[in-house]
Amino acid sequence: MDIAKIHEVFLKCTSVSIDTRKIQPNSLFVAIKGDNFDANTFAKEALEKGASYVIVDNSNYCIDDRTILVKNSLKTLQQLAQYHRNYLKLPIIALTGSNGKTTTKELIYSVLSSKYTTKATIGNLNNHIGVPLTLLSFTSETEIGIVEMGANHKKEIEFLCELAQPDFGYITNFGKAHLEGFGGVEGVIEGKSEMYSYLFKHNKLVFVNLEDSIQVEKTRSINQFTFGLNTTTANVSITQVTANPFVTVKFQDLKITSHLIGLYNANNINAAIAIGNYFEVPNASIKAALEGYIPENNRSQMIAKGTNQIILDAYNANPSSMAVAIENFKQLDRPNKMAILGDMFELGDESLYEHKQIVNSLSNQNEIDCHFVGADFFVHNIEAKNFHFHATFDELATYLNKQKINDSTILIKGSRGMALERTLDFFEK
Ligand code: ATP
Ligand code: MG
Repeated sequence: MDIAKIHEVFLKCTSVSIDTRKIQPNSLFVAIKGDNFDANTFAKEALEKGASYVIVDNSNYCIDDRTILVKNSLKTLQQLAQYHRNYLKLPIIALTGSNGKTTTKELIYSVLSSKYTTKATIGNLNNHIGVPLTLLSFTSETEIGIVEMGANHKKEIEFLCELAQPDFGYITNFGKAHLEGFGGVEGVIEGKSEMYSYLFKHNKLVFVNLEDSIQVEKTRSINQFTFGLNTTTANVSITQVTANPFVTVKFQDLKITSHLIGLYNANNINAAIAIGNYFEVPNASIKAALEGYIPENNRSQMIAKGTNQIILDAYNANPSSMAVAIENFKQLDRPNKMAILGDMFELGDESLYEHKQIVNSLSNQNEIDCHFVGADFFVHNIEAKNFHFHATFDELATYLNKQKINDSTILIKGSRGMALERTLDFFEK
Protein backbone atom coordinates (compact mmCIF):
# COMPACT_ATOMS: atom_id res chain seq x y z
CA MET A 1 0.00 0.00 0.00
CA ASP A 2 1.44 3.40 -0.88
CA ILE A 3 1.74 6.24 1.64
CA ALA A 4 -1.22 8.19 0.23
CA LYS A 5 -3.45 5.16 0.84
CA ILE A 6 -2.02 4.61 4.32
CA HIS A 7 -2.70 8.28 5.01
CA GLU A 8 -6.34 7.78 4.04
CA VAL A 9 -6.50 4.97 6.60
CA PHE A 10 -4.79 7.19 9.18
CA LEU A 11 -7.38 9.95 8.64
CA LYS A 12 -10.11 7.49 9.56
CA CYS A 13 -8.41 6.90 12.92
CA THR A 14 -8.38 9.19 15.94
CA SER A 15 -4.70 8.78 16.84
CA VAL A 16 -1.52 6.79 16.31
CA SER A 17 -0.17 4.43 18.89
CA ILE A 18 3.05 2.45 19.18
CA ASP A 19 2.39 1.00 22.63
CA THR A 20 -0.46 -1.42 23.35
CA ARG A 21 -0.47 -0.32 27.00
CA LYS A 22 -1.63 3.15 25.96
CA ILE A 23 -3.87 2.27 23.07
CA GLN A 24 -6.82 4.57 22.29
CA PRO A 25 -10.06 3.36 20.72
CA ASN A 26 -10.10 3.71 16.93
CA SER A 27 -6.35 4.31 16.74
CA LEU A 28 -3.79 3.22 14.17
CA PHE A 29 -1.24 0.94 15.81
CA VAL A 30 2.23 0.98 14.28
CA ALA A 31 4.27 -2.07 15.27
CA ILE A 32 7.89 -0.97 15.59
CA LYS A 33 10.78 -3.29 16.35
CA GLY A 34 12.77 -1.96 19.27
CA ASP A 35 15.94 -3.22 20.92
CA ASN A 36 14.00 -5.24 23.47
CA PHE A 37 10.59 -5.83 21.91
CA ASP A 38 9.22 -6.61 18.50
CA ALA A 39 5.83 -4.87 18.54
CA ASN A 40 4.66 -7.06 15.65
CA THR A 41 3.95 -9.63 18.33
CA PHE A 42 1.43 -7.20 19.88
CA ALA A 43 -0.52 -6.52 16.69
CA LYS A 44 -3.35 -8.88 17.59
CA GLU A 45 -3.58 -7.45 21.11
CA ALA A 46 -3.73 -3.92 19.66
CA LEU A 47 -6.79 -4.83 17.59
CA GLU A 48 -8.39 -6.54 20.56
CA LYS A 49 -7.81 -3.44 22.67
CA GLY A 50 -9.58 -1.17 20.20
CA ALA A 51 -7.14 -0.20 17.45
CA SER A 52 -8.90 0.04 14.10
CA TYR A 53 -5.85 -0.78 11.99
CA VAL A 54 -2.33 -2.08 12.55
CA ILE A 55 0.81 -1.58 10.51
CA VAL A 56 3.21 -4.53 10.73
CA ASP A 57 6.46 -5.37 8.98
CA ASN A 58 6.40 -9.10 9.46
CA SER A 59 3.94 -11.16 7.39
CA ASN A 60 3.62 -13.71 10.18
CA TYR A 61 1.54 -11.16 12.09
CA CYS A 62 -0.96 -10.29 9.35
CA ILE A 63 -4.36 -10.89 10.90
CA ASP A 64 -7.14 -9.68 8.61
CA ASP A 65 -7.95 -6.75 6.35
CA ARG A 66 -7.26 -4.42 9.26
CA THR A 67 -3.56 -5.27 8.94
CA ILE A 68 -1.32 -3.22 6.66
CA LEU A 69 1.91 -5.03 5.80
CA VAL A 70 4.90 -2.77 5.01
CA LYS A 71 8.63 -3.29 4.58
CA ASN A 72 9.65 -1.28 7.61
CA SER A 73 7.11 0.06 10.12
CA LEU A 74 9.38 2.79 11.50
CA LYS A 75 10.12 4.14 8.00
CA THR A 76 6.42 4.03 7.21
CA LEU A 77 5.63 5.99 10.38
CA GLN A 78 8.17 8.63 9.34
CA GLN A 79 6.94 8.82 5.74
CA LEU A 80 3.36 9.02 6.93
CA ALA A 81 4.25 11.90 9.25
CA GLN A 82 5.98 13.75 6.43
CA TYR A 83 3.03 13.16 4.12
CA HIS A 84 0.64 14.41 6.80
CA ARG A 85 2.73 17.50 7.39
CA ASN A 86 2.49 18.37 3.67
CA TYR A 87 -1.19 17.57 3.63
CA LEU A 88 -1.91 20.00 6.49
CA LYS A 89 0.30 22.88 5.32
CA LEU A 90 0.24 24.59 8.75
CA PRO A 91 3.10 26.79 10.00
CA ILE A 92 5.53 24.77 12.07
CA ILE A 93 8.09 26.08 14.55
CA ALA A 94 10.98 23.70 15.22
CA LEU A 95 13.12 23.88 18.36
CA THR A 96 16.41 22.29 19.12
CA GLY A 97 19.47 23.10 21.27
CA SER A 98 21.49 21.52 24.03
CA ASN A 99 19.44 22.79 26.98
CA GLY A 100 16.05 24.29 27.50
CA LYS A 101 14.16 22.87 24.52
CA THR A 102 11.21 21.51 26.49
CA THR A 103 10.98 24.56 28.76
CA THR A 104 11.09 26.91 25.78
CA LYS A 105 8.59 24.76 23.88
CA GLU A 106 6.17 24.92 26.79
CA LEU A 107 6.58 28.67 27.20
CA ILE A 108 6.02 29.28 23.49
CA TYR A 109 3.04 26.96 23.58
CA SER A 110 1.54 28.91 26.51
CA VAL A 111 1.97 32.18 24.65
CA LEU A 112 0.76 31.08 21.21
CA SER A 113 -2.16 29.07 22.46
CA SER A 114 -3.64 32.23 23.97
CA LYS A 115 -4.38 33.33 20.40
CA TYR A 116 -4.13 30.28 18.14
CA THR A 117 -5.15 26.64 18.20
CA THR A 118 -1.68 25.35 18.89
CA LYS A 119 -0.27 21.87 19.24
CA ALA A 120 3.17 20.99 20.48
CA THR A 121 5.34 17.98 21.20
CA ILE A 122 3.94 16.13 24.16
CA GLY A 123 6.47 15.84 26.96
CA ASN A 124 9.87 15.06 25.56
CA LEU A 125 8.92 13.04 22.44
CA ASN A 126 11.66 14.61 20.38
CA ASN A 127 13.44 11.84 18.47
CA HIS A 128 13.01 9.88 15.22
CA ILE A 129 9.84 8.32 16.64
CA GLY A 130 8.60 11.24 18.79
CA VAL A 131 8.79 13.82 16.00
CA PRO A 132 6.64 11.70 13.62
CA LEU A 133 4.14 11.10 16.44
CA THR A 134 4.04 14.82 17.14
CA LEU A 135 3.42 15.64 13.47
CA LEU A 136 0.67 13.04 13.31
CA SER A 137 -1.03 14.64 16.33
CA PHE A 138 -1.62 17.83 14.31
CA THR A 139 -5.07 18.12 12.76
CA SER A 140 -6.81 20.39 10.27
CA GLU A 141 -7.85 22.51 13.27
CA THR A 142 -4.24 23.11 14.34
CA GLU A 143 -3.17 26.65 13.44
CA ILE A 144 0.45 26.45 14.62
CA GLY A 145 2.57 23.38 15.39
CA ILE A 146 5.58 23.37 17.68
CA VAL A 147 8.05 20.53 17.31
CA GLU A 148 10.89 19.80 19.76
CA MET A 149 13.82 18.04 18.12
CA GLY A 150 16.48 16.27 20.13
CA ALA A 151 19.71 14.79 18.87
CA ASN A 152 22.67 12.95 20.26
CA HIS A 153 24.56 12.54 17.00
CA LYS A 154 25.07 14.33 13.70
CA LYS A 155 22.57 14.20 10.81
CA GLU A 156 19.70 13.64 13.23
CA ILE A 157 18.41 17.22 13.14
CA GLU A 158 18.78 17.28 9.35
CA PHE A 159 16.60 14.19 9.15
CA LEU A 160 13.99 15.53 11.60
CA CYS A 161 13.82 18.83 9.66
CA GLU A 162 13.15 16.90 6.45
CA LEU A 163 10.23 15.24 8.20
CA ALA A 164 8.77 18.32 9.90
CA GLN A 165 9.74 20.88 7.22
CA PRO A 166 9.62 23.77 9.67
CA ASP A 167 8.79 27.30 8.54
CA PHE A 168 10.44 28.72 11.65
CA GLY A 169 13.30 27.54 13.79
CA TYR A 170 14.99 28.37 17.05
CA ILE A 171 18.07 26.85 18.64
CA THR A 172 18.00 27.46 22.39
CA ASN A 173 21.77 27.20 22.84
CA PHE A 174 24.89 25.26 21.98
CA GLY A 175 26.28 23.53 25.04
CA LYS A 176 28.09 20.55 26.34
CA ALA A 177 25.39 17.91 26.03
CA HIS A 178 25.72 14.47 24.44
CA LEU A 179 29.42 15.12 23.83
CA GLU A 180 29.97 11.41 23.40
CA GLY A 181 27.75 11.08 20.33
CA PHE A 182 28.71 14.41 18.75
CA GLY A 183 32.44 14.18 19.37
CA GLY A 184 32.89 17.43 21.32
CA VAL A 185 31.35 20.89 21.37
CA GLU A 186 32.28 21.64 17.74
CA GLY A 187 30.31 18.56 16.81
CA VAL A 188 27.35 19.81 18.86
CA ILE A 189 27.43 23.16 17.03
CA GLU A 190 27.64 21.42 13.65
CA GLY A 191 24.87 18.98 14.56
CA LYS A 192 22.39 21.55 15.85
CA SER A 193 23.22 23.91 12.97
CA GLU A 194 21.71 21.40 10.58
CA MET A 195 18.47 23.21 11.42
CA TYR A 196 19.98 26.49 10.23
CA SER A 197 21.04 24.84 6.97
CA TYR A 198 17.49 23.63 6.45
CA LEU A 199 16.00 27.08 7.12
CA PHE A 200 18.53 28.75 4.83
CA LYS A 201 18.06 26.26 1.99
CA HIS A 202 14.28 26.63 2.08
CA ASN A 203 14.24 30.39 2.63
CA LYS A 204 12.51 30.10 6.02
CA LEU A 205 12.84 32.25 9.15
CA VAL A 206 15.01 31.83 12.22
CA PHE A 207 14.55 33.40 15.65
CA VAL A 208 17.88 34.63 16.99
CA ASN A 209 18.94 35.50 20.52
CA LEU A 210 21.47 38.31 20.00
CA GLU A 211 23.00 37.54 23.41
CA ASP A 212 24.32 34.25 21.98
CA SER A 213 27.32 34.91 19.76
CA ILE A 214 27.20 31.48 18.12
CA GLN A 215 23.58 31.97 17.10
CA VAL A 216 24.40 35.39 15.67
CA GLU A 217 27.36 34.10 13.71
CA LYS A 218 25.67 30.99 12.33
CA THR A 219 22.48 32.72 11.17
CA ARG A 220 23.93 35.69 9.26
CA SER A 221 22.56 34.62 5.90
CA ILE A 222 19.12 33.46 7.09
CA ASN A 223 15.89 35.54 7.26
CA GLN A 224 15.60 36.39 10.92
CA PHE A 225 13.60 37.90 13.76
CA THR A 226 15.84 38.86 16.63
CA PHE A 227 15.66 39.54 20.34
CA GLY A 228 18.23 40.81 22.80
CA LEU A 229 18.88 42.86 25.89
CA ASN A 230 18.66 46.65 25.76
CA THR A 231 19.32 46.87 22.09
CA THR A 232 17.88 49.01 19.34
CA THR A 233 19.03 46.60 16.66
CA ALA A 234 16.79 43.71 17.75
CA ASN A 235 13.16 43.27 16.71
CA VAL A 236 12.35 42.67 20.36
CA SER A 237 14.35 44.34 23.11
CA ILE A 238 14.15 43.08 26.67
CA THR A 239 15.02 45.96 28.96
CA GLN A 240 15.65 44.23 32.27
CA VAL A 241 16.32 40.73 33.56
CA THR A 242 16.57 39.68 37.19
CA ALA A 243 16.35 36.35 39.03
CA ASN A 244 15.70 36.61 42.73
CA PRO A 245 15.01 33.72 42.72
CA PHE A 246 12.27 33.84 40.06
CA VAL A 247 13.12 35.27 36.68
CA THR A 248 11.55 38.67 36.03
CA VAL A 249 11.91 40.44 32.71
CA LYS A 250 10.76 43.77 31.32
CA PHE A 251 9.51 44.12 27.79
CA GLN A 252 7.99 47.41 26.58
CA ASP A 253 5.42 48.35 29.25
CA LEU A 254 5.28 44.85 30.69
CA LYS A 255 6.92 43.46 33.80
CA ILE A 256 6.70 39.69 33.66
CA THR A 257 7.41 37.67 36.79
CA SER A 258 7.75 33.98 36.00
CA HIS A 259 7.72 30.87 38.18
CA LEU A 260 11.07 29.81 36.72
CA ILE A 261 14.33 29.87 38.62
CA GLY A 262 17.73 30.58 37.15
CA LEU A 263 18.91 33.38 34.92
CA TYR A 264 19.38 30.88 32.11
CA ASN A 265 15.61 30.63 31.95
CA ALA A 266 15.49 34.29 30.93
CA ASN A 267 16.69 33.22 27.48
CA ASN A 268 13.81 30.76 27.27
CA ILE A 269 11.30 33.39 28.41
CA ASN A 270 12.70 36.00 26.05
CA ALA A 271 12.43 33.59 23.13
CA ALA A 272 8.76 33.03 23.98
CA ILE A 273 8.17 36.80 24.15
CA ALA A 274 9.84 37.30 20.77
CA ILE A 275 7.91 34.50 19.10
CA GLY A 276 4.66 35.74 20.63
CA ASN A 277 5.45 39.22 19.37
CA TYR A 278 6.23 37.89 15.88
CA PHE A 279 2.87 36.10 15.78
CA GLU A 280 1.14 39.25 17.04
CA VAL A 281 -0.06 37.89 20.36
CA PRO A 282 -1.17 40.92 22.43
CA ASN A 283 1.27 41.96 25.15
CA ALA A 284 -1.21 41.36 27.96
CA SER A 285 -1.71 37.77 26.76
CA ILE A 286 2.04 37.20 26.55
CA LYS A 287 2.37 38.36 30.15
CA ALA A 288 -0.54 36.25 31.39
CA ALA A 289 0.75 33.16 29.59
CA LEU A 290 4.30 33.44 30.92
CA GLU A 291 3.25 34.29 34.45
CA GLY A 292 0.82 31.38 34.43
CA TYR A 293 3.39 28.81 33.40
CA ILE A 294 4.38 26.59 36.33
CA PRO A 295 7.33 24.27 35.71
CA GLU A 296 6.95 20.62 36.56
CA ASN A 297 8.76 17.37 36.01
CA ASN A 298 11.77 18.32 38.18
CA ARG A 299 12.78 21.19 35.92
CA SER A 300 13.76 24.45 37.67
CA GLN A 301 11.10 24.00 40.33
CA MET A 302 11.06 25.75 43.68
CA ILE A 303 9.59 23.52 46.38
CA ALA A 304 9.06 24.22 50.08
CA LYS A 305 9.78 21.28 52.39
CA GLY A 306 9.38 22.11 56.05
CA THR A 307 11.56 25.12 56.68
CA ASN A 308 13.69 24.38 53.61
CA GLN A 309 13.41 25.82 50.11
CA ILE A 310 14.46 23.36 47.42
CA ILE A 311 15.52 24.27 43.91
CA LEU A 312 14.74 21.03 42.16
CA ASP A 313 16.51 20.79 38.82
CA ALA A 314 16.99 17.04 38.86
CA TYR A 315 15.45 16.42 35.46
CA ASN A 316 18.80 16.43 33.72
CA ALA A 317 22.35 17.74 33.80
CA ASN A 318 25.30 18.30 31.53
CA PRO A 319 28.33 20.56 32.00
CA SER A 320 26.63 23.66 30.56
CA SER A 321 23.38 23.39 32.46
CA MET A 322 25.26 22.41 35.63
CA ALA A 323 27.53 25.46 35.32
CA VAL A 324 24.63 27.90 34.86
CA ALA A 325 22.66 26.34 37.70
CA ILE A 326 25.67 26.65 40.03
CA GLU A 327 26.38 30.20 38.90
CA ASN A 328 22.80 31.11 39.61
CA PHE A 329 22.92 29.43 43.00
CA LYS A 330 26.11 31.24 43.97
CA GLN A 331 24.39 34.55 43.34
CA LEU A 332 21.33 33.72 45.38
CA ASP A 333 21.38 35.83 48.51
CA ARG A 334 20.28 33.28 51.12
CA PRO A 335 21.68 31.82 54.31
CA ASN A 336 22.46 28.08 54.70
CA LYS A 337 22.99 27.08 51.11
CA MET A 338 23.45 23.42 50.23
CA ALA A 339 24.10 21.91 46.78
CA ILE A 340 23.45 18.25 46.00
CA LEU A 341 25.02 17.53 42.63
CA GLY A 342 24.86 14.20 40.84
CA ASP A 343 26.98 12.73 38.07
CA MET A 344 26.59 13.96 34.50
CA PHE A 345 26.24 11.17 31.96
CA GLU A 346 27.09 10.70 28.26
CA LEU A 347 30.29 12.76 28.34
CA GLY A 348 32.65 10.13 26.93
CA ASP A 349 36.33 11.05 27.15
CA GLU A 350 35.50 14.50 28.50
CA SER A 351 33.80 13.09 31.58
CA LEU A 352 36.70 13.24 34.04
CA TYR A 353 37.66 16.73 33.01
CA GLU A 354 34.10 18.10 33.08
CA HIS A 355 33.36 16.70 36.55
CA LYS A 356 36.60 18.18 37.82
CA GLN A 357 35.66 21.57 36.39
CA ILE A 358 32.41 21.52 38.32
CA VAL A 359 34.18 20.57 41.56
CA ASN A 360 36.71 23.35 40.97
CA SER A 361 34.01 25.91 40.31
CA LEU A 362 32.83 25.42 43.89
CA SER A 363 36.21 25.22 45.57
CA ASN A 364 36.17 28.71 47.06
CA GLN A 365 32.45 28.79 47.83
CA ASN A 366 32.72 28.28 51.57
CA GLU A 367 29.16 29.36 52.17
CA ILE A 368 27.79 26.47 50.11
CA ASP A 369 27.72 23.02 51.69
CA CYS A 370 28.48 20.85 48.62
CA HIS A 371 27.49 17.22 48.20
CA PHE A 372 28.76 15.39 45.14
CA VAL A 373 27.01 12.12 44.36
CA GLY A 374 28.15 9.35 42.02
CA ALA A 375 31.27 7.61 40.78
CA ASP A 376 32.41 10.29 38.32
CA PHE A 377 32.41 13.02 40.94
CA PHE A 378 33.88 10.65 43.51
CA VAL A 379 37.14 10.35 41.52
CA HIS A 380 37.79 13.98 42.41
CA ASN A 381 37.31 13.41 46.11
CA ILE A 382 39.34 16.22 47.67
CA GLU A 383 39.57 17.47 51.22
CA ALA A 384 37.65 20.64 51.86
CA LYS A 385 35.57 21.68 54.83
CA ASN A 386 32.40 22.23 52.85
CA PHE A 387 32.85 19.29 50.40
CA HIS A 388 31.25 15.87 50.83
CA PHE A 389 31.70 13.11 48.27
CA HIS A 390 29.23 10.21 48.17
CA ALA A 391 30.14 7.37 45.83
CA THR A 392 26.52 6.27 45.55
CA PHE A 393 23.05 7.61 46.19
CA ASP A 394 22.75 5.26 49.15
CA GLU A 395 25.74 6.91 50.81
CA LEU A 396 24.08 10.29 50.40
CA ALA A 397 20.86 8.83 51.78
CA THR A 398 22.67 7.52 54.86
CA TYR A 399 24.22 10.94 55.41
CA LEU A 400 20.92 12.80 55.03
CA ASN A 401 19.14 10.36 57.35
CA LYS A 402 21.54 11.33 60.12
CA GLN A 403 21.21 15.09 59.60
CA LYS A 404 18.50 17.49 60.55
CA ILE A 405 18.50 20.11 57.83
CA ASN A 406 16.46 23.21 58.46
CA ASP A 407 16.12 26.78 57.20
CA SER A 408 18.24 25.94 54.17
CA THR A 409 18.09 26.60 50.43
CA ILE A 410 19.06 23.45 48.59
CA LEU A 411 19.98 23.05 44.93
CA ILE A 412 19.44 19.53 43.58
CA LYS A 413 20.80 18.74 40.13
CA GLY A 414 22.09 15.67 38.30
CA SER A 415 21.60 13.54 35.19
CA ARG A 416 18.29 11.75 34.69
CA GLY A 417 19.89 8.42 35.54
CA MET A 418 20.78 9.74 39.01
CA ALA A 419 17.09 10.46 39.74
CA LEU A 420 18.08 12.93 42.45
CA GLU A 421 14.45 13.85 43.07
CA ARG A 422 14.66 10.87 45.44
CA THR A 423 16.51 13.27 47.74
CA LEU A 424 13.28 15.13 48.46
CA ASP A 425 12.15 12.32 50.74
CA PHE A 426 14.93 13.19 53.17
CA PHE A 427 13.75 16.71 53.89
CA GLU A 428 10.85 17.29 56.20
CA LYS A 429 7.49 17.93 54.63
P1 ATP B 1 16.33 17.17 26.81
O1 ATP B 1 17.58 17.10 25.99
O2 ATP B 1 16.28 16.19 27.92
O3 ATP B 1 15.08 17.14 25.95
P2 ATP B 1 15.78 19.99 27.05
O4 ATP B 1 16.71 20.65 26.08
O5 ATP B 1 14.38 19.80 26.59
O6 ATP B 1 16.38 18.61 27.56
P3 ATP B 1 14.72 21.20 29.45
O7 ATP B 1 14.06 19.94 29.79
O8 ATP B 1 13.86 22.35 29.05
O9 ATP B 1 15.82 20.93 28.33
O10 ATP B 1 15.64 21.68 30.64
C1 ATP B 1 16.55 20.79 31.22
C2 ATP B 1 17.48 21.55 32.11
O11 ATP B 1 18.36 22.36 31.31
C3 ATP B 1 16.81 22.55 33.04
O12 ATP B 1 16.35 21.95 34.19
C4 ATP B 1 17.91 23.54 33.28
O13 ATP B 1 18.79 23.07 34.26
C5 ATP B 1 18.70 23.57 32.00
N1 ATP B 1 18.40 24.72 31.11
C6 ATP B 1 17.18 25.10 30.69
N2 ATP B 1 17.27 26.15 29.86
C7 ATP B 1 18.58 26.43 29.72
C8 ATP B 1 19.31 27.40 28.97
N3 ATP B 1 18.70 28.29 28.17
N4 ATP B 1 20.67 27.38 29.08
C9 ATP B 1 21.30 26.47 29.86
N5 ATP B 1 20.66 25.55 30.60
C10 ATP B 1 19.32 25.51 30.53
MG1 MG C 1 13.35 18.06 26.18
